[in-house]
Amino acid sequence: MKRDCIFCQIIDGEVPADILYRDEEVIVFPDIQPQAPKHLLIVPVAHINSVAELGAGDFQLIGKLVLAVKLMAEREGIAHSGYRLTINSGLEAGQVVPHLHLHLLGGRRLNDQLG
Ligand code: 5GP
Ligand code: ZN
Repeated sequence: MKRDCIFCQIIDGEVPADILYRDEEVIVFPDIQPQAPKHLLIVPVAHINSVAELGAGDFQLIGKLVLAVKLMAEREGIAHSGYRLTINSGLEAGQVVPHLHLHLLGGRRLNDQLG
């Protein structure tokens, strides 16, 4: 855990969030400022700053994060209508929280552009 990290604080229960899924490696909660009717954050329990910090040994973790997306999309009822995954990495992508996370966005027609 990184003490000054908001997502680590959520994982530790120090900051409240509506935890929708949790296992030893992955936690899911809604984004506090949703950009779509369904906007969840899929977050590794371990603190990793960003994609740029991933190591070769993290490949299973990435698979688990994406499988958690699939599960949550089914639970949220958007598996068939469709959804988007976004991972911001670093300044120019607009990453605000330096703890790796996937945005799961759905429940409305999303823009054609990626950015
Ligand atoms: P980023 O721009 O780093 O990819 O996205 C960070 C996301 O975390 C933003 O969409 C922001 O709304 C969300 N966020 C920031 N602080 C909190 C918080 O305390 N709780 C929750 N649930 N989401 C947060
Ligand atoms: Zn963290």
